[in-house]
Parts: sequence; structure tokens; C-alpha cells
Amino acid sequence: MTDYDVIIIGGGSAGYSAARTAQEAKARVAIVDHGPLGGLCILKGCMPTKTILRSSDLMALQRRSQEFGLLPVQARADLSAINDRKNRIIGEFTRYRIEQLQDPDFILYEDTASFLSPHELRVGAHTLRAKNFIIATGSKIAEFPVPGLKESGYLTSDDVLKMRTAPESLIVLGAGPVAVELAQFFSRIGVKVSLIQRSHHILSSGDEDLARAVEARLREEGMDLYTGTRIVNVVKEGNDRVLRFVHEDREKTVRAENILQALGRRPNTDGLNLESAEVETNHKGTIVVDSEMRTRQPHIFAVGDVNGLHEIVHIAIEQGEIAAHNAVHPDKPPRQMDDRLKTSVVFTDPAVAGVGLTEKECQTRDIPYLAASYPFNDHGKSICMGETHGHVKILCHPKTGEVIGAHIVGPEAGELIHPLITLMYFHGTVFDLVKIPHYHPTLSEIITYPAEDLIEKLA
Ligand SMILES: Cc1cc2nc3c(=O)[nH]c(=O)nc-3n(C[C@H](O)[C@H](O)[C@H](O)COP(=O)(O)OP(=O)(O)OC[C@H]3O[C@@H](n4cnc5c(N)ncnc54)[C@H](O)[C@@H]3O)c2cc1C
Repeated sequence: MTDYDVIIIGGGSAGYSAARTAQEAKARVAIVDHGPLGGLCILKGCMPTKTILRSSDLMALQRRSQEFGLLPVQARADLSAINDRKNRIIGEFTRYRIEQLQDPDFILYEDTASFLSPHELRVGAHTLRAKNFIIATGSKIAEFPVPGLKESGYLTSDDVLKMRTAPESLIVLGAGPVAVELAQFFSRIGVKVSLIQRSHHILSSGDEDLARAVEARLREEGMDLYTGTRIVNVVKEGNDRVLRFVHEDREKTVRAENILQALGRRPNTDGLNLESAEVETNHKGTIVVDSEMRTRQPHIFAVGDVNGLHEIVHIAIEQGEIAAHNAVHPDKPPRQMDDRLKTSVVFTDPAVAGVGLTEKECQTRDIPYLAASYPFNDHGKSICMGETHGHVKILCHPKTGEVIGAHIVGPEAGELIHPLITLMYFHGTVFDLVKIPHYHPTLSEIITYPAEDLIEKLA
């Protein structure tokens, strides 16, 4: 029997940040992770996907060479070389994370954790006790009951990152960030892609106007995109998969060499034996937490993908810090998660980035707002660069002009959103935005134009 102040189950982004925060407060900390060590973001999530997207983005630019007065080049992709580059880069990130986890300030158990009671954990041959537990076990690719899909065989985002040869054609099921980024990756390296989505538009959790700009670009690049569909079934015919679905009240079929199932993930609570810990999960299997990241058991916290609040790395890290602070400082005021500055980025081209409230959220929650947009095809620097897809949209309070949401679909959206996050962090207004100097000609200047429109509306 070994006692700790905090035991953290899972050493990914959420778990590692919790461990570091608890250790900085001089707590006795153990991390349990059955491996492979590194976490989703480094091994199979953010970093490998953004690495391979760089290759497909360059290839898309190569195809446009004549538009920029350059002699045409024969743009061709080699998926094994793309994945080899990715493996080299990810190998470095992984080695660094493992070194961090093996820091002598923590005790690392490389084994599976399972609760014996609310205060005891079985880890291999050990029984560990702790004053607090932080569950950070992440998520897993979910299976969906699409008739015939399992029998026909399909790829997942994990498989894509190991592929050596690209298929001739691919059906992508789903249109969340992972699905859309990978669909564009394959389309840009020369695969014939058909994307099938149940909702009325892709990236359905965000505003429609942002999604439509991406849809237009994907279609322009040659992708077949069907939204508002109902899947009937999948059958394997020879080497092909044939998907039957209903679209605009008609039954249609698409045929491709393979299918990428990118419909979503589920919380990973397998084998944790949460019943023994008396920790509650909801109907989706996510662990229910309050804003202090506490479960129904006040000494057991859950952070990152496993609580299903917002499956994004920087939020997993913040949740880890909050849980660890609340666990090791019972004498201090508790820290709480605040989603006022909730940010997300989709690394398509055009990219989609947003902070704060969407129009959809304002409308469903009856939050009053004013909105104004400005298109990249009317902005000097983007015209010079030949990157004219998309627009910037700003939402402000209808009386004070405080910015309550900002959204960009366009070139470098993931970078351009950051000055707007900073502005919102300081509760800045549209009046502040137009006063802040912006160098000319830059992409960033564009964020001041909708602010000027909003000032007129506020007058
Ligand atoms: C393809 C893809 C692309 C993505 N791109 C982005 C992006 O660009 N930006 C972004 O912000 N987010 C992105 N995400 C999401 C992001 O990767 C996750 O939100 C984040 O990595 C989750 O971190 P975590 O700490 O909750 O879980 P993980 O990093 O998955 O950590 C969980 C750890 O728990 C361990 N574990 C699990 N069960 C047990 C057990 N019973 N006992 C012991 N150990 C256990 C595992 O080995 C693992 O190391 C992407 C995700 C995917 C799939």
C-alpha cells in the first residue's frame, strides 16, 4: 500500500499539466499511464495531423504556380514520405514528453489503473491510496451502427497516420474538424474524395456562414460534398466500398476504394471500474464534473477529453491545472473553468477559428448582440497573396460594444484569432479594436473593418 497526495490517471496533455501543477505545490504525486506514452495530441492527434497537412497545403500551392507567374510544376505526393517526415517530427515530440513524465519529482507507474474503492486504485500488482485522484484518460474512436460498415472494413484517423499508399478514392463519413481536415488532406494529394454529412452544413457546431466558405473551397478543389444526408448502408463490392444514402429526398450511391470513418470519439473510461469509485457518468459515458473539475466524489476530478466538455488541448491543459490547484490547495479559493474565451481552430484552407460566443449560441440562449462581417476578397493584403476565401465576423454587446465573440474563416485564421482572444481577455470593445495600431499591409488589418461597421451600428 502506497500513499500519495494526488494520483493522476493518464499522462496526456490534461494529466501531465495536472501533475506539473501539483508537483510545483510540493505535493507527493504519482502518474499512472499504461502507454504508449505521449498522449493523443502528440501521437495521433494535433501534431501528426498538422504535420501532414503542411504537405498537402504546399501541394495545393504548387498546383496554383501559374497563377503566381511561375512555370507549372508536376505536383505529386508520396504518402509514405509524408508519413516518414511526420514520424521523425513526432518522434522528437514524444521523446521530450516521455522525459517530462520520467521526471524524478513524480512517481510514474507504467500500468493500467482501476478503482478498488473511492480511495484505492489497483495498478498492476500495487494498491495505491491517495487523498485526491485526477482522471485524465482521454477518448477513443467511437464505433457507429452504420449498417454494413464494420463488415466492409474502414479506416480511422489512427490508420491514416500509418498509411504508406493513398487510395485512388475515399468516402469520408463525418464533417467535424478531424473529418474535414483529413478529407482536404486526401483531396489535395490527389485522392477523389466524397464527404457525407448528416447535418445541414459541415462543422455543424459552429455558424453556418463560416462552414459555407470552407464547403465552397472544398468543392472548388474537386471534392464531392453531400450535406443533409441519411446513410442507408455500406456494401463491399470487389475491392470497392459502396455507400447508399438519401440526399435531397433521393437515394444515391457513392463508390470508393476505402472509407474514412471520422464520425467522432467517445470518453475512455474502459477498465477504470468507476462504479467502485462511485463516480457518475452521463448517457454519453462522459464523466460528469462541475466547474472546479470535481466529480460527484469531491476528492476525484476528471479533466480533458474524458469529461467531454470541449475536446481541445489547451482546454485539457487548463482543466488539469484547475483540478490540481483545487486538489492540493483546499485552504485557497477554488479555481473554476470559465468558457468565456472558449477558442477553437479547424486547420482547413480556408481555416476556421473562433473565440467566445457564436451567433448560433446567442440566438439559442437569447443573448442580445450585434454582428458585422468583412470579406477577404475585398482586403488588400489577401488580394496580394491570392488568398481571398472567407471573411471575418465580430459579435459585440449591443450597448457597450464589448466584443463577445469573434470568428474568422480565411487565410491564417488560426493565427489571426489570437489578437481577438487578447482583446476579449481584457474585455476590450470594438472602439479599442479600431484604436489599436495595425501595420499595413497585413492580414491582421482586416479585423478592424467589421469593428468600424459595428461602431456605426452602435451610434
Ligand atoms: C486526429 C485528431 C486531431 C486533433 N487535432 C487537434 C488540434 O489541432 N488542436 C487541438 O486542440 N486538439 C486536437 N485534437 C484533440 C486533442 O488531441 C485532445 O483533446 C487531447 O489530446 C486530449 O488530451 P487528454 O489528456 O484528455 O487525453 P490523452 O492525451 O489521450 O491522454 C490519455 C492518457 O491516458 C492513458 N490511459 C487511458 N486509460 C488508462 C488507464 N485505465 N490506466 C492508465 N492509463 C490510461 C493513455 O495511455 C493516455 O496516455 C485532435 C484529436 C484528433 C483525434
